[in-house]
Amino acid sequence: MSKTVIFLGPPGAGKGTQSQLLKERDNFIQISTGDILREAVKNQTSLGLQAKKFMDEGKLVPDDLILNIISEKLEELKDKNIIFDGFPRTVAQAEGLKDMLSKIGRKIDAVILFDITDEEVVKRLSGRRVCPNCGAVYHLIYNPPKNDNVCDKCGTPLIQREDDREEVIRKRLEVYHQQTAPLIDYYKDVLIKINATLSPEDIYKHIKSVL
Ligand code: ADP
Ligand code: AMP
Repeated sequence: MSKTVIFLGPPGAGKGTQSQLLKERDNFIQISTGDILREAVKNQTSLGLQAKKFMDEGKLVPDDLILNIISEKLEELKDKNIIFDGFPRTVAQAEGLKDMLSKIGRKIDAVILFDITDEEVVKRLSGRRVCPNCGAVYHLIYNPPKNDNVCDKCGTPLIQREDDREEVIRKRLEVYHQQTAPLIDYYKDVLIKINATLSPEDIYKHIKSVL
């Protein structure tokens, strides 16, 4: 039976880093609404044009746009192990997901809550650098690339995300506490809290032990 897992937690908690490990090592497919939206913005699609202003301000993109993305993705991924990374982010999105999953006979196996303080998030996001070509994620201090500011995997110069500037980070945290944190209660029956301040390998081991 294929697994359906949600990674819940503030921006910068390490959800993408762990999704990458599970993708490389354990045959999971990662559905990151943030990555899908950034790609749409880059390609100036209709979705991208609608989403851009919300993303630049650190606000959530409207639920109907997000649920459309997910419904298209689910069609392609019927028998796969899925991690939802950064989705759902509102109770309305969680309700929409529940309906879509029940139509295809799937259920949520686990919601992993990445537990971390706002101060640590600010440190992580202000030092985050990403590869615009292959999506690899680094940190200037915690996980630096081997060669100065160049991706280890594909050699492309790394960039800082537009929304990883301090004033936008603060806004994204506020949005998380107001709109996304209510999901902790919503998913209490399947919630597994992990300490997101451990090393990436220790967090990975913890996640593997509960899945
Ligand atoms: P999210 O997907 O939740 O927004 P990321 O996986 O992009 O978070 O991680 C945010 C930043 O923190 C990145 O720069 C990443 O390299 C770094 N990071 C991720 N996991 C850890 C960890 N366990 N310890 C220290 N730094 C981490
Ligand atoms: P992330 O890469 O998950 O940090 O997301 C970056 C930005 O994309 C967020 O600040 C939002 O503007 C938007 N976004 C990503 N996922 C969602 C979602 N599930 N619901 C609403 N907005 C989202």
